[in-house]
Amino acid sequence: MRRRNVKIIATLGPSSDRPETIKALFEAGVDVFRINMSHLDHDGLRLIHGKVRSVESEVGRPIGILLDLQGPKLRIGKLEGDAIMLARGQKFRLDLDPAIGGPDRAPLPHPEIFQALQPGQSLLLDDGKIRLLVVEVGEGYVQTEVMVGGRLSNRKGVNLPDSLLPVRALTEKDLRDLELALELGVDWVALSFVQRPEDVAEARKMARGRAAIMAKIEKPQALDKIGEIIDMADGIMVARGDLGVELPIEQVPGWQKRLTRAARRAGKPVVVATQMLESMITSPVPTRAEVSDVATAVFEGADAIMLSAESAAGQYPLEAVRMMNSVAVTVETDPTYPAIIYAQTTEPEATGADAISAAAHTVADTLKAAAIVCYTDSGATGLRAARERPHVPIMALTPRIETSRRLTLVWGLVCVLTDDARDVDDMVDKACTIAFQEGLAEPDQRLIVIAGIPFGTPGATNLLRVAYVAKKHAIART
Ligand code: PGA
Ligand code: MN
Repeated sequence: MRRRNVKIIATLGPSSDRPETIKALFEAGVDVFRINMSHLDHDGLRLIHGKVRSVESEVGRPIGILLDLQGPKLRIGKLEGDAIMLARGQKFRLDLDPAIGGPDRAPLPHPEIFQALQPGQSLLLDDGKIRLLVVEVGEGYVQTEVMVGGRLSNRKGVNLPDSLLPVRALTEKDLRDLELALELGVDWVALSFVQRPEDVAEARKMARGRAAIMAKIEKPQALDKIGEIIDMADGIMVARGDLGVELPIEQVPGWQKRLTRAARRAGKPVVVATQMLESMITSPVPTRAEVSDVATAVFEGADAIMLSAESAAGQYPLEAVRMMNSVAVTVETDPTYPAIIYAQTTEPEATGADAISAAAHTVADTLKAAAIVCYTDSGATGLRAARERPHVPIMALTPRIETSRRLTLVWGLVCVLTDDARDVDDMVDKACTIAFQEGLAEPDQRLIVIAGIPFGTPGATNLLRVAYVAKKHAIART
């Protein structure tokens, strides 16, 4: 039985894509699997998607799938001898000429960026390891001066932190990938390099409710419009990899705090991602600093923490998940945890769902209830209950498999698929029986049940009931 509020996302890849590994990762604590389309074709997507879904039916619990679209990741082309050395102070030209690059130029096959660049702006190569200053922009080329040099190899990534690019967050490849993913059925779609709320709107239009949309925050331009982006998205990811390249790296921790707080205020899930246990790619134990980093995200009340290369391509995927799990569980049982989490809780909004969720939190505390149980159809009530960050577990009961999968990413929610209740008595009995089966409550304990009556009416949370778990509810724990 899991007793953890923060959820764990693990990226699948060559180190973890065998069915028995996926199952072992789930058992070690993974709630959501991330499929990264930067490294996968359509056959690969079909295959891995099928494997996760069959593990899901084997274990009999909802498992979330987060499809991460590559987005407009810019890359240079090929170079002579596959790599060159760039020295500080030298000139280096990037242009549309497809010819192989050399010591003083490289192909950059992205026409749109030549219009966006201006002299004085920076251009970063290979995750920011190499820094170029734009000195001249012409038709289909930029001339730069090398500010920080180094070895540059084929097809390395390019970041343009200073310019708002006239590119959509969804490339042609993304659209094709998204179409297949929606057909297969994924629960969350993450959009890379979101710059504006319109980028999210476009994906939302394509998804038509079939998947929730997560905006990856990794461009400074997105930070300028973060309020509107959060409003438009179903959740956000603090994508610290690219964010740490595009922003001075020391600004990332402050932004992580601001972003997690803004998302929590909006009641939208927030994921903290990238390099959380980076050294575990090659080492069975993490560094103190990495453990501290994971702990910080847990203390901030993030909905989920994510493993990238650690689980996708590292040597110790299982150890990384176990480590993340035990750091999270340990932090959440630390005596300082409730007060730190609660300090960032915001006032309920003037809606039935918020009023009832806040009341459930208070009543649960006063009565020392074992758990809050919420009936949720679309998942909205589950999200608002989680926004309260209550001190007791929240069980989300839903008749919809899609909702249960989507909510696996949300702070504190234990998701269980069940039929809608027939009436209020049935609602209480179901809540008590399932809470017992899930190990969340024992006979003589109380539960706080919240729901919308009549059942199945979206957005109508209007009922709070204090329920007693009785002996008759204590049937069969699996
Ligand atoms: P990526 O996104 O792993 O797809 O680059 C996450 C990040 O940039 O942090
Ligand atoms: Mn990224």
